[in-house]
Amino acid sequence: MSERKTLTVPNEEIVEQKLYIEELKSKLWGKGLTYHIVTYGCQMNVHDSENLAGMLADMGYTETSEQHEADVILFNTCCVRENAELRVYGNIGSLKAYKQANPNRIIGVCGCMMQQSDIADYIKKTFPFVDVIFGTHNLHRFPGLLLQALDSNHTIIEIMDTEGKIVEHIPVKRATGVSAWVTIMYGCNNFCSYCIVPHVRGRERSRRPDDILEEIQTLANEGYKEITLLGQNVNSYGKDLEQNYLFHQLLRDSTKIEGIERIRFMTSHPKDLSDELIYAMAEHGKLSKHIHLPIQSGSNRILRDMNRKYTKEDYLERVKKIRSIMPDISLTTDIIVGFPGETEEDFRETLKLVEQVGYDSAFTFLYSPRKGTPAANKTNQIEQEVKKERLARLNNKLNKSSNERNLIYKDKLVKVLVEGPSKTKEDIYTGRTDTNKIVNFESCPDLVGKLVSIRIKKAQTWSLEGEVVPNG
Ligand code: SAM
Ligand code: SF4
Repeated sequence: MSERKTLTVPNEEIVEQKLYIEELKSKLWGKGLTYHIVTYGCQMNVHDSENLAGMLADMGYTETSEQHEADVILFNTCCVRENAELRVYGNIGSLKAYKQANPNRIIGVCGCMMQQSDIADYIKKTFPFVDVIFGTHNLHRFPGLLLQALDSNHTIIEIMDTEGKIVEHIPVKRATGVSAWVTIMYGCNNFCSYCIVPHVRGRERSRRPDDILEEIQTLANEGYKEITLLGQNVNSYGKDLEQNYLFHQLLRDSTKIEGIERIRFMTSHPKDLSDELIYAMAEHGKLSKHIHLPIQSGSNRILRDMNRKYTKEDYLERVKKIRSIMPDISLTTDIIVGFPGETEEDFRETLKLVEQVGYDSAFTFLYSPRKGTPAANKTNQIEQEVKKERLARLNNKLNKSSNERNLIYKDKLVKVLVEGPSKTKEDIYTGRTDTNKIVNFESCPDLVGKLVSIRIKKAQTWSLEGEVVPNG
């Protein structure tokens, strides 16, 4: 990469929003106002919520975990599957009583669901107490919209149909002090036939390398030890940039930033997983030895109908290559069951592939028809009962595989980045291996944010248990 000398000036949209933030700050000063954000869906949404939290914190709001007490309640929505949408409707409905209890409270609904043409209007009509509705492309404009909502009795709606340019320097308030999400690109060009993401997140847009590396440097200065680079298909990072700079180069440059001990990334599309990326991962100790490589189905016929642009043979060849160079790598995946037209034979091919690969873990989903996607219009939809029965069989096989993969760790010494106390017991701490395995162990607050050696004593399906080995 060329020398890192240019630091971007905040773009004019952000300058404008900062003025709104200042206006809100003086307007709300001393009122002790609070916010509560509910996030649905993937890590990209989680990170968007960190930006919303950052903007609210700059206005003087503080976070509360008690939704019913909050002065601003935001729902950041997901539309990848129908059940996520149904949950959102149910949960918005239950906010009516809160609004009646405190009419000054602001209720906002944003995110992917709002980018679907009729949903914002439906929400406005069905839940007239919602104060502000906005989409994914204008998240950075939240301060201006909040200001309007505070001054109005009507629902403020702003949805942008096109993605526009990338906006840098949006305030951010991250959840933990050890590990941080960094979005490296937005949108997706793949148009898998079942998927709504390209329709609501727009086309692929890569952030400039300098902006990303500057953000990682800032995170290192703030004491973060681990970063996860995010994108719907990180392997196509950079293909839209003017300069010749691809994902493996970004990874290599990220490893040069002192203070960052580990670098993770997700998600990788199998068709774009390059040899250069595999070699970079093998060479650099800081690059996590874990790849999330969604297969979706083990049947070539279904993969073709899904528009995935690889065959199971291509996929297995990639896995073979990865494992020949990094034998200890952990591999995880996403699988959809019950895609339209999936026969028992197709499904068995998925089971067979799961056995062949030996995944460390997987996210599995019942196919959910999404309006506006080609697969939703197919007439050969699979019955819900059949989908559920297949999902149970698949999960059974995957659980066995996870258990077997975890057993490999028994009695081994692993390096774990300590994240913090576990949710269950005060003196039990939790962290992750390089291969993204969750490890629980007895520890103390001093070790949070440190890489410690742990001897694994017990392997379970979802996690490992171990003991700290001092000076290990
Ligand atoms: N871009 C990533 C990729 O292609 O691997 C994943 C994005 S998507 C938010 C996460 C997962 O949701 C997908 O890998 C897929 O398994 C699942 N998914 C997407 N659309 C779905 C649908 N209509 N029904 C069920 N699962 C779906
Ligand atoms: Fe959706 Fe496919 Fe893009 Fe992933 S690669 S976001 S599954 S269209």
